[in-house]
Amino acid sequence: MPSAGARSSPRRVLVIEDEPDMANLLSLHLTELPAEVQAQVDGLAGLRAAQQHGPWDLIVLDLRLPGLGGIDICRTLRQAGDRVPILMLTARGAELDRVLGLELGADDYMTKPFSVLELGARVRALWRRVDGRAGPQPDDEPAALSCGTLRMNRVQRRVWLRETEVSLTGLEFDLLWCFAREPGRAFSRGELLDRVWGTQHDGYEHTVNTHINRLRNKVGAGFIHTVWGRGYRFEQPDGPT
Ligand code: CA
Repeated sequence: MPSAGARSSPRRVLVIEDEPDMANLLSLHLTELPAEVQAQVDGLAGLRAAQQHGPWDLIVLDLRLPGLGGIDICRTLRQAGDRVPILMLTARGAELDRVLGLELGADDYMTKPFSVLELGARVRALWRRVDGRAGPQPDDEPAALSCGTLRMNRVQRRVWLRETEVSLTGLEFDLLWCFAREPGRAFSRGELLDRVWGTQHDGYEHTVNTHINRLRNKVGAGFIHTVWGRGYRFEQPDGPT
């Protein structure tokens, strides 16, 4: 993907996250954006890095941290007038945290678990807003696509089947987008894990199956075919779906 504009130096990102697996995953994929990533596992050390080792182009901030929580870090930075873009990470179902985080001045939030596609999309969107560059997408992904009775809008992250909107989770959307981008192509479970989940972790294959089944229940089984010995393939169904 193209880098953001004509910047001469890479973006600098501070990740404050105490779960090592999550911190590694974030660092790995933020680096690919590209960005220079520094990680802190403790809230107090994170705040210190935020204040003293900047300027930062982004802080990815976990809510539950040892030492000092994400909400306190966010509040402290904003009260000091720091306008650094902040992307908060929250556990599933923590709506209170979300509202509080946004009220305290976080720019966006993301619920764990999230896909690597979603992470990239959110961060690029944040930087576009910061750069004041609304409008065309800076990457080479189309903004929307359709296949028979199925329509997808990547910017709005919405899906319609005929004219009825289908409610998908972030992961389900990314999975369907990955398929619909390349109809007819057979994807192995490992490829899907790599592209959508951003991991090649052994034993995650059943996760793919589970999400495919949920997706089939939502958009109809006709779109996603099992390819024996390979994985899955997206096709426009014959006749009415
Ligand atoms: Ca945590």
